[in-house]
Amino acid sequence: MVEARASCYCADVRFQPEIASRHPPGTPGPLFVFKGSDLLVRVNDGLAEVPVAADPASLGFTAPVVLHVGNADGAPCRAAEIAGDAPDGWNFAGLRSLFSVLPEPLFRVAGRALMLVEWERTNRFCGRCGTPTRAKEGERARECPACGELAYPKISPAIIVAVTRGDRIMLARHHRFPQRFTVIAGYVEPGETLEECVHREVREETGIEICEPRYFANQPWPFPHSLMVAFTAEHLSGEIRVEPSELIEGGWFAADALPTVPDKVTIARRLIDAFVAAHRRSPPG
Ligand SMILES: [Zn+2]
Repeated sequence: MVEARASCYCADVRFQPEIASRHPPGTPGPLFVFKGSDLLVRVNDGLAEVPVAADPASLGFTAPVVLHVGNADGAPCRAAEIAGDAPDGWNFAGLRSLFSVLPEPLFRVAGRALMLVEWERTNRFCGRCGTPTRAKEGERARECPACGELAYPKISPAIIVAVTRGDRIMLARHHRFPQRFTVIAGYVEPGETLEECVHREVREETGIEICEPRYFANQPWPFPHSLMVAFTAEHLSGEIRVEPSELIEGGWFAADALPTVPDKVTIARRLIDAFVAAHRRSPPG
């Protein structure tokens, strides 16, 4: 294993997505090395870094596939999946566990890299005829040499919605993440509009009806390949009756009495913070 290198990559990044690099082979750049869905990082003073390298071999790894992700601050940015152990001083960590130590711009590029690695490893064979696929020249696609089937990176849209009732926001606790309360979210079904999905998810999970949802913002979310589309909506009718297979409990919370909520990197938190900014009571006097 190579000793942990001095040159690392972190902090602000100007990122340009690309299919192929304009740099000569062997040009070093930020390298996102995944083992499963865990990222190789080194944490220094509460800040995570990824290695700068020309390829996984220079870090001592054998990687069957190296994907070009884009241009980051003028350097080629690559992603690879490996099976070995981390070099001394480095370790593999799930992206979710790196929320607090991975700067947001780096988190976004890491998420993009993870989605591409995940797409590549689940499309090595044609889904139609089973023949091994190959990268398609000039496109972010895998093609089947036998039947011509093309596989593009999969992105699954999901909605996330902050429902308010006067000066309260509806938050719920999920079986999957019982330590914090958050807003309602769910995947869009085939044939469904985003707005229809918002109405359906809120109805299915909490039993309440909402007024017409309003678009708020969106966020790519690599767990495993979502695009979170956020809305706000007002309560219209009904009382909270949580769907017990998904939710533990739900309730209406005032801005100055919130329970534990998701990390700042999440769009859920941005929805909650926007609610708090709009509803925080002025301090007395
Ligand atoms: Zn095929």
